[in-house]
This record gives sequence, C-alpha cells and structure tokens, in this order.
Amino acid sequence: MKKCLMYLFPLLCLSLGGCFWTRSSFDLSTLKNANNIIDVAVIGSGPSGHLAGIYAKRGGMHAVVFEGDMPGGLLTQTSMVENWPGEVAILGPDIMKKLKEQGEKLGVEYIPQTIEKVDFSSWPYKLETSAGETVQALSVVIATGAGPRRLKICGEDQYWGLGVTSCAVCDAPFYKDEEVVVIGGGDSAVEEAIQLTPYAKKITILVRKDKMRAAPRMQEHLKSHSKINVRYDVEVNKIVGDDTKVTGVELFDVKKDKNFVMPTSGVFLAIGHIPNTKVFTGQVKMDADGFIVMTKGRTQSTSVPGVFAAGDVEDREYRQAGVAAGSGIKAGLDALNFLNDIGITPAISEEINARRFHVEEKKEKSPDVEAITSLEQFKSFKEGDKLAVVDFYADYCPSCIQMLPAFAEVAQESQDIAHFAKVNVEDAEDLADQLFISSIPCLMVFRNNELVARYNQAMTKQELVAAINQCASGTSEQS
Ligand code: NDP
Repeated sequence: MKKCLMYLFPLLCLSLGGCFWTRSSFDLSTLKNANNIIDVAVIGSGPSGHLAGIYAKRGGMHAVVFEGDMPGGLLTQTSMVENWPGEVAILGPDIMKKLKEQGEKLGVEYIPQTIEKVDFSSWPYKLETSAGETVQALSVVIATGAGPRRLKICGEDQYWGLGVTSCAVCDAPFYKDEEVVVIGGGDSAVEEAIQLTPYAKKITILVRKDKMRAAPRMQEHLKSHSKINVRYDVEVNKIVGDDTKVTGVELFDVKKDKNFVMPTSGVFLAIGHIPNTKVFTGQVKMDADGFIVMTKGRTQSTSVPGVFAAGDVEDREYRQAGVAAGSGIKAGLDALNFLNDIGITPAISEEINARRFHVEEKKEKSPDVEAITSLEQFKSFKEGDKLAVVDFYADYCPSCIQMLPAFAEVAQESQDIAHFAKVNVEDAEDLADQLFISSIPCLMVFRNNELVARYNQAMTKQELVAAINQCASGTSEQS
C-alpha cells in the first residue's frame, strides 16, 4: 500500500480537462491521511445515477450513490411509461425500484442524503453531505437531474402549496371533486392530467400554443379520459386567490386578444424542467441555462477531470429516461477510466478500505417521532409556549418519505426548543382538510396555538434546523 500511495506521477498535463490540472494534481500520497474516501461518488439517484453506480461497481470500484431529496428522481412522479427498453408498459416508480434492487444486489451503496456543497478545486474532491460530513471522492458523477420549472408570475409564490403545485402524484388526492387546471403542453402535462383523473371532477389542460408538444401517443391517451379537456391558445397571466387559497387563474386568450379569469381550485404546473445544478455553481462549467457542459468528445467529461455528468443535468436535447440511463453507463465507464489513468486499480481501492466512507454506519435507524392521527391529539399537541412542529406527509409522496428521517433527526436534536410530530394525511383526512393542506410535504410550526410558520416544500436537514431556529428566535420567514 505504502508503495502505491507514494507513487508520484510525472508532471504531464492531463488531456482530460483544464490546463491547470496536471498528473501531479492526482498525487496518490495525498490519500495517506484522507478519510471518508469513495472511489466513485454518484450524486443523484435517477436512471443515470443508478447506472453510473452499477457500472463503477462492476468495474471493481467502491461506488456510493447519494440519493438526494427525491430518491429515484422524476420517474417516481410519473405513472405508466411505454418507452422504457424491454417493457411494454411499466410504472415509473417500478423502474426505479428495479434499478435500485439491481444496484444493491451488485454492491452499490445507497445513502439517503443530499450533497450540500462541493469543492472541486483540489483532488480528492470534497463533498459535504446533508448530515454535515465531508467525503473525499476520487471521482464524481453528477446525476442530480432536473426540477420543475416555475412560471414566475404573480400569485405563484403566494399560493405555492395553497393550490399551486408541480407534483400531481403527491397532491392529486387533495383535489377530490374539484375543478383544476394543468399548465403546459408536453408529456408531463398529459401525465399530470391523467394522474388527477381518479380525484378531480374536471381537469383542463391550458396550452399556450395551438398544439401540444406531447408525443402523439400520449395525446391519444387523453381521448379515453372524459374528465380532461384541452384549451389551446391561452397564456397564464397570474394566479388569483382569496389570500388563503387559489380561486382561479387569469388567462390571456391569444386569438381573441383578451384577458379573462377561469375559476379553479388547483393549478398544476407542467411547463418543463430546469437542471438541478445550483450546488455546482463555480465548480464546473455550465451554460447560461445551468446545464453542465460536456467537454470531451462522446464522453461525459465536465471541465474538471474525474468529474462527470449524466442525465438531465447535461441533456437539453433528449431528456428521456433511457437516454439518461445510457449516459449514466458512459459516466460510470468514464470514471473507471479516469481512476485507472491516475493509478487507482481495484487492488489499490481494496487497500483504501479501512478509510472508506462507511455507509452502513450512516444508515443507522433514525429516531421516531410522535404520530398524530386525530384532531384532539393535534389540539393538545400545539398548546403551550414551546414550539410545536408538525410534518404532514403521505407514504405515496417520494419527497415526503425522503424528508422524514431528517425531520426525525432534527426532532431528536432540537427537543429542548420544540416538540415534534408527524401526520400521515391518509390517516388524518379531517385534520388535513381543516388546516387547508393541499400540498405535501408541509411543515407547520405553532406556538401557544398560533401558527408561526408554514413551509410548503420538501426541506433538507439544514433547512429544517434553520427554519426551527428562526421560529424560536421569532424571525421566521414563511414560504
Ligand atoms: P417539455 O419541455 O417537453 O414541455 C414543456 C411544456 O410546457 C411545453 O408544452 C411548453 O410550451 C410549456 N411551457 C413552457 N413554459 C410555459 C409557460 N410559461 N406557460 C405555459 N406553458 C409553458 O417538458 P415536459 O416536462 O413535459 O417533458 C420533459 C421531458 O420528459 C420530455 O422529453 C418528455 O418526453 C419526457 N417525459 C416523458 C414521459 C413519458 O414518457 N411517460 C412523461 C413525462 C415527461 P411550448 O410547447 O409552447 O414551448
């Protein structure tokens, strides 16, 4: 091992990336004092992340996938998929379940955390996890996917979680017998509309042009759903409400050249996605829209040698699950080639074992939190001058499930300033109705029976801690 670690490379400029990277940048002797080492750290767990992990592991390297705040990625929010290789029709969440089973079986390690900060300025690369630890990555695959695009119009922020949402899988059950609209004309708009049909009374897809962009086959599916209408040539000007919830959308009829308000109680956004690359700003080259730029031929190389990207973070052209999986395979192979180039063989990887990032330790079972199921229980819970923090969730909501362990950890660590409870909205429908829960996850903070703050989005551990500290100090910023 010592011999391997003392192995110094000649000072040759690597063709992999920027000219300031030389072979001496990857001096294996720096690993001597390093801990928490991962050979191939994959950030994100959509199809590209899984496949990158699978190929890295099968290549003999230690591969860890940080699952992020939506394990399984966007496919977990879709329903039937008809264009996944080898499957006539399969549910999106089932694809992701199978991929994870395959990865686990092959020895890929999955950790239910997000990466909050990266430092690619020197090797090994530093990744800061949502549990506050620093990982030393010998190579990295960025597979953080994309998140829903927002309209950026008046009323959108005010009513976010109070009638405006981008997750039909999570929130459709809150719109039983209601009239709702879906904004967008792509495959996602069709998906969201269909996901709403078991619940809503009437669903109108609002398309800004005179035709939809969705695949003809997807549009064909709409014909078998009598509750769904498509209205063309309408642009959304603003979202209107009564201060507590959405009551309608103001639309501009392009053909008639006039504005009008369409009453609705739910606005489901399906207007495309933007790459989840904020955490990599200033670390790798990106284009003006935040997509990571590929730098070397047909590989998945970024501007930093040993850091690769795959899937929706770098693909503005195809954005298909199958293509993402394929680019994940390429990124996994690229990572193996890189590690081989700098001298990390499977044998050396084996020797580093003692100073590995120990995934099993990090997966220790989270502490549990009191579960509230009735209105009476809830009433007594929020009495008193100590902060009372409640997390509303459902088992079918992927981001809710991801947030629960972080919530439980914060509950344990902050029990001196607040008490905590969770509410499964499926077990406590009356309570959810009474509190106007129309989007999950939803975090509410009370003191002396009064609502202090409400957060209508998934939150990381750091965000939860910051929110609770703000509430405790009386400086909360509700969202
Ligand atoms: P797309 O980019 O394909 O479509 C976005 C839609 O939103 C377009 O119709 C666009 O209109 C519209 N839009 C954008 N901005 C606005 C705005 N400000 N106001 C109103 N409408 C707006 O995104 P999707 O999320 O639908 O799909 C992304 C990718 O994922 C695609 O490649 C798709 O094939 C894939 N996908 C596949 C599925 C499946 O196979 N089951 C399911 C879901 C997605 P315009 O057309 O005028 O630009």
